[in-house]
Amino acid sequence: MTLIPRTLFRAVLPAVVALLAAPPLHAALERADGRPSAADSTDPIRTERTDRHQAGSIEITVLFDNYAVEQELVTAWGFAALVRFNGHAVLFDTGFDEDILLANANALGVDLAGIEAIVISHAHSDHVDALPPLLGRIGPRPVYLLEAFPISFREMVSQRCEPVMVPDAGIDLFEGLHLTGNAGGSIPEQALVAESSEGLVVLTGCAHPGILRIVRLAAERYGGPIHLVMGGYHLGGQPMSSIEELIEGFRELGVALVAPTHCTGDEAIAAFREAYGDGFVKVGVGAVVRAGRGR
Ligand SMILES: [Zn+2]
Ligand SMILES: [Zn+2]
Repeated sequence: MTLIPRTLFRAVLPAVVALLAAPPLHAALERADGRPSAADSTDPIRTERTDRHQAGSIEITVLFDNYAVEQELVTAWGFAALVRFNGHAVLFDTGFDEDILLANANALGVDLAGIEAIVISHAHSDHVDALPPLLGRIGPRPVYLLEAFPISFREMVSQRCEPVMVPDAGIDLFEGLHLTGNAGGSIPEQALVAESSEGLVVLTGCAHPGILRIVRLAAERYGGPIHLVMGGYHLGGQPMSSIEELIEGFRELGVALVAPTHCTGDEAIAAFREAYGDGFVKVGVGAVVRAGRGR
């Protein structure tokens, strides 16, 4: 993506806004395949509801987490979720223990043999250690990694299947389902972003690069509004003042629903629940969160 100097951005902004206000011209900015054209990438972050993300529907089932919404499921420190998007099935992280992953998947009626691909958010053991036995069980699948992950981890994956290296600019898993690529920071991490008809859905592992940074990146790259931000926000030990600033940042980006879990921290989860009210979605193992209508 080409970076545009701020001064130039300000100068062209009114023209871009005027252009977007005119339906026929806006339609002309869309590529034939429905994805935004290069010209569209200069848009300001849009926080209002639009019909931009036309037909995406997503369902996220939490299979591994240290919180649970159903008591009979197994909780353990880590994260994994099954993402169903427009008929596709992708596993996002694996947790650290295959037995726990399988036990929860079975209890929830999820057959992991049906997944088409596996995304690894970052190479911490609580997100990846169940990967080798899982690949041994279900056979090779494309596994989406970052170049910046430790070489030992990348080699381990390469011995079992064909990894897909996600560039920093991100990659499309399927039309309307994206990986951000490395969001920056000292611990390389990527997030999954889905275009649902209700807005963007952002799914994070631990959000080590910063949850606001990831959400902003998603909005800038794929065009807001942000409907839902789900997963680990990694805010344990943060002072309440920075959590409040973060909540303000979410509001500025128009985040409609929040579903913090895993490494977010109890105090931060409570603060989001308080601030978001009905927009707070309680998640944990067994949670099934849906957004959008469509295919
Ligand atoms: Zn974690
Ligand atoms: Zn982590």
